[in-house]
Amino acid sequence: MDSFDHLATAARAYQAQLPSRRVFPSPEAIAALSTLPASLPETGLPLEHILALLANTVAPATVLTTSGRYFGFVTGGSLPAALAANQLAAVWDQNAALRIMSPAAVELESVALRWIADFLHLPPTSLGAFVSGATMANFTAMAAARHALLAAQGHDVESLGLFAAPPFPVLVGEQAHVSVFKALAMLGLGRDRVIRVPSDSQGRMRPDAFPSLSQPALVCLQAGNVNTGALDSPELIPLAKQSNSWVHVDGAFGLWSPNANYAAADSWATDGHKWLNVPYDSGIVFVRDPQALSGAMTLTASYLDPGAEIEPMQRAPESSRRARGIDTWAALLSLGRTGLSEMIERCCRHARHFASVLALHNVEILNEVSLNQVLAALPSDQQTLAWLQAVQAEGECWLGSTIWSGRRALRISVSSWATTDQDVERSLASLIRHLPAK
Ligand SMILES: *Cc1c(COP(=O)(O)O)cnc(C)c1O
Repeated sequence: MDSFDHLATAARAYQAQLPSRRVFPSPEAIAALSTLPASLPETGLPLEHILALLANTVAPATVLTTSGRYFGFVTGGSLPAALAANQLAAVWDQNAALRIMSPAAVELESVALRWIADFLHLPPTSLGAFVSGATMANFTAMAAARHALLAAQGHDVESLGLFAAPPFPVLVGEQAHVSVFKALAMLGLGRDRVIRVPSDSQGRMRPDAFPSLSQPALVCLQAGNVNTGALDSPELIPLAKQSNSWVHVDGAFGLWSPNANYAAADSWATDGHKWLNVPYDSGIVFVRDPQALSGAMTLTASYLDPGAEIEPMQRAPESSRRARGIDTWAALLSLGRTGLSEMIERCCRHARHFASVLALHNVEILNEVSLNQVLAALPSDQQTLAWLQAVQAEGECWLGSTIWSGRRALRISVSSWATTDQDVERSLASLIRHLPAK
């Protein structure tokens, strides 16, 4: 057997136990990780030995995020075509920093970016890039915003830094994702000096509470609140544009909503590894003004050909990186436009079903189930937590919890291509079985 045979055997065995194994590993399986070699061996181990450790000790301790019954955070699985492409791409080990390093990888990535922009109704002339996730996509887009807002005031932030830069306001919704604040911190824009626009009961920025701006600002909208799934109103874009502001949309998963309508914004961040169901790590950023993105990300070196196309490493923070766009290209090709829409709609339908069946059992649904997220609560936080722990301990499915409007809630996120009607019924049966006795 060569290494590919070993790999195929281990992969098949793993896939075969998906329907029957606990979604979250047992405490024993996690404890067994301590039996792995503790110190770096003096001499290397044979490949078969390493694969055996992975298959026998590590695999049982993995979380079955690909099983169709994992509803934690916002977590996609891996579409079969994306997974296969990912593995073949690993064999190829292409570096997607520059076209000359891998003409094939950069070509597939540029095609995939075009398809995504088209599907999401983003301007075809916007410049896109693959990054590691939506956190980096937010960072990259806001770096482009910083470039443009300061260039308009005659300040070259990439050369001079922020020390003598004229300040500009940054507006975010009260319920903005934590990664937005991290990106602002990394960009020197400050996580605490932002203006937080009050939000409504679903976590949407309230247009009536949007301040009137006397100078261009960076305005960060959210498509898909991590708890409720709600989308900020696109009507905020023309409001913000009255002051020539830059509008960025954090749409890690919500940008894939059939109701997303943000073409008028300036930049967009989204994830491939959430709702598009490609393997980690995959985030995508688009910027309307190519010059703003390349201005923020550009680097020159004697071995780069000036004046050629804007290379991947001149559109994103990373230089060397895996050709993650190959997975995305394969995922899109395997779904087609209709298949992609159907996958999204199926997840939303499952979410609505979770909500309506739980409501029949007197569970309170705290959000309007408008996308793929469901917040379910019992009368007291204590009861909700006990319910959560019982469901997690059984292992039929896995979901996490959150605090919404001051109340503890189970948080169900349906984001996987693999979730079937049967997975939903099995998970609902577990949820209902563990409701407190009346
Ligand atoms: C998940 C998420 C992010 C962060 O994405 P990563 O891929 O984990 O970096 C940002 N914003 C929103 C709204 C998200 O749901």
